Amino acid sequence: MEIVHVSAECFPVAKAGGLADVVGALPKYLNMNGHKASVIIPFYHNKFRSQHSFSKIFTGFARSGNATYTFNVLVTDDFDPGFDLFLIDILGLFDRENIYSYGDDTERFIGFQVAAVNWLCAWEKPIDVIHCHDQHTGFIPFMLAKVIEYQQFENTPTVFTIHNGEYQGQFGFDKITLLPPFHSYFTGLIEWKGAISPLASAIKCAWKVTTVSPGYLEEINHSMSGLEELLRTERSKSVGILNGIDAHIWDPETDPLLDVNYGIANVNAGKKAAKEMLCKQFGLDPKVPLFAFIGRLAKEKGADILPDVVYHTLTYHRNEQSILVLGSGEKHIQDGLLHMEHLFKEQFCSYIGYNEKLAHEIYAGADFLLMPSRVEPCGLNQLYALRYGTIPIVRRTGGLSDTVIDMGDDGFGFCHDQCTTHDVMHSMHRAREFFKNTKLVTTIRKRIMKIDHSWEKSAQDYIALYSSLK
Ligand code: ADP
Repeated sequence: MEIVHVSAECFPVAKAGGLADVVGALPKYLNMNGHKASVIIPFYHNKFRSQHSFSKIFTGFARSGNATYTFNVLVTDDFDPGFDLFLIDILGLFDRENIYSYGDDTERFIGFQVAAVNWLCAWEKPIDVIHCHDQHTGFIPFMLAKVIEYQQFENTPTVFTIHNGEYQGQFGFDKITLLPPFHSYFTGLIEWKGAISPLASAIKCAWKVTTVSPGYLEEINHSMSGLEELLRTERSKSVGILNGIDAHIWDPETDPLLDVNYGIANVNAGKKAAKEMLCKQFGLDPKVPLFAFIGRLAKEKGADILPDVVYHTLTYHRNEQSILVLGSGEKHIQDGLLHMEHLFKEQFCSYIGYNEKLAHEIYAGADFLLMPSRVEPCGLNQLYALRYGTIPIVRRTGGLSDTVIDMGDDGFGFCHDQCTTHDVMHSMHRAREFFKNTKLVTTIRKRIMKIDHSWEKSAQDYIALYSSLK
């Protein structure tokens, strides 16, 4: 099958979070299974652009609102991601460093979607499925089905994956002309509760809707910031497919971002070395258990309770543990963490920012990974932690419930029900007690490293889904 993915992110070209990891891995695994998958993303003027060279393969025009854009489609000359990667360069919209958070994101991503579809119109080979990811590509299923200009795709199946339903991208009807002209009869397909919503439109128009874990699909039928009713209506075409991990990139035995590599056989020695280097870097004690958090400093991730957790747990158990946080996001959380660093200089450190290498070093060097998330559609961090022999401490929600089993249920992690300081501290207490039993720690480390969360299985689920649409 010829499968085209359209996304705002793709690892390692442009990454803000898990979406990039998924779009950078699933197509590779589809190709390994004999299909032809490609990816289309915007061409951001970021670090990846300055480190590689590119060739232009197509020039086209896209109209959106009052603006007409010339766009170029580029391919990389010196980098092979494992699939055909097409980068859409639109001057005025994407010649900036960051992926999101500009005032004109609505204009930028509608411009991108129009350009992507205009370019697909020029493809000579037939496309079996167009797979769109998150709200930034949410209008594509509608455009293909209902915009006369794109009639040639009327019968091309579309799949839409919700990676994060909290970001819906809605805007007012004053901007309706940003979309290509369509019969007003179809306006209901882009509307939700009085606004234009790309996420709602995708849920209505895509042939199939997927979520990144079965647990998240169940959850959002009851709660997804106003869209739950729509999801219930479209339940019959929705399916939850658990994300996988790129086992070639996330492998402690070969990971080039680690200074010391290790496997199941020498997990204790490997993790000890990784922990010592990490603790040295941050001035922490390597002899006590090291708890870490990696991720966006957002309420959704439960990061807002971290300063409080650090304060209380280190007040009561000061020299029994070290805590390390890597992340960036809401300023009040960053400030709270910096304050804690001041209070607990030798026990707590935070690195505010984005750092791919450090993330790998933490997955390797930490003993426990904290994920107190309020919302977690799948969560990749716990899957990376498992692969690196790091024990996850998670709130039971979404994909975390699907992938982490509590020690008390013959499992391998620590689970709690609430995103509260009390619940997290209770799990940390259990973890510290567990850490004293070195034999059990070794057994569990070896056990979790053997769990196969690679894309191999989930890619099969996507292939079955695509095949059902033919
Ligand atoms: P999200 O909701 O943010 O997409 P996921 O768990 O799905 O969460 O994916 C998060 C991904 O982003 C993981 O690869 C994680 O290692 C990475 N990540 C998050 N924050 C940082 C950071 N500050 N530095 C490096 N990597 C990060």
